[in-house]
Amino acid sequence: MTSSLERSLRPQAATPAAVVADHLIKRYGDLEVLKGVSLSVPEGTVTSIIGASGSGKSTLLRCMNLLERPDRGDLAIADEAIRFARNPQGDIIGLDRRQLQRLRAKVTMVFQQFNLWPHLSVLGNVIEAPMRVKRLSRRRAIALGEHYLERVGMADKRDAYPAFLSGGQQQRVAIARALAMEPRLLLFDEPTSALDPERVNEVLGVIRGLADEGRTMLLVTHEMHFAREVSDQLVYLDQGRIAASGTPQDVFEDPRCRHFVAPAA
Ligand code: ADP
Ligand code: MG
Repeated sequence: MTSSLERSLRPQAATPAAVVADHLIKRYGDLEVLKGVSLSVPEGTVTSIIGASGSGKSTLLRCMNLLERPDRGDLAIADEAIRFARNPQGDIIGLDRRQLQRLRAKVTMVFQQFNLWPHLSVLGNVIEAPMRVKRLSRRRAIALGEHYLERVGMADKRDAYPAFLSGGQQQRVAIARALAMEPRLLLFDEPTSALDPERVNEVLGVIRGLADEGRTMLLVTHEMHFAREVSDQLVYLDQGRIAASGTPQDVFEDPRCRHFVAPAA
């Protein structure tokens, strides 16, 4: 016999966090964009971040893969722990170059605007980071790249250049590129916001498949139905603070964010 308390504790104990952010603070000049954000994404789960434009969602994701450096706070990614602070000169400290390289291999991001390299073919885009960051041989990177292009349904376009692809196709290549690093955590920043409406579902379908496979993902999206359907955890960010978090159902019903998730209701 196990008590309900034991049962409720067990998943957390058995599921280590892929990433833990503790009290992250990020400022741009006088503007404090993240005001002490704490967040944990358990391995094999999906967390979605929702919130109004300007609430700090992209900044939070960019801090998670160190495209931005938090001013303060702690970040633990896989088995790597970093404490950010400012030294007396005001410089942000807490990360050396080797750590940055290691973390970049563990956390990859899919951007709203795809950000494919226009001068590289589809396959060239996908193998670049595995070769440069993970130092894989070209042959191994190609094998990996072909595998993930197949996974997103873009294998037949491997020699095409981004300019000749639709937005949805470009975004699927960007997802393959992120997967080819075999990261511990995948970040998506509004991956369908730049797409024509008829292209949204092909990208959401790929992301849903990754969720079903048990990939660990942190997703910023305005697709509320989708977020509700795929997420284990939903986080509502309001002016740089987490105003509500929990299961999608909890957050959708929370009076603090009901106006946001269902404005027309
Ligand atoms: P969201 O993704 O939720 O729309 P962002 O994280 O992009 O929000 O932005 C949060 C706030 O930080 C906004 O007020 C934005 O103008 C500001 N901001 C974002 N990036 C920068 C930057 N590089 N320099 C100065 N201000 C920035
Ligand atoms: Mg944003």
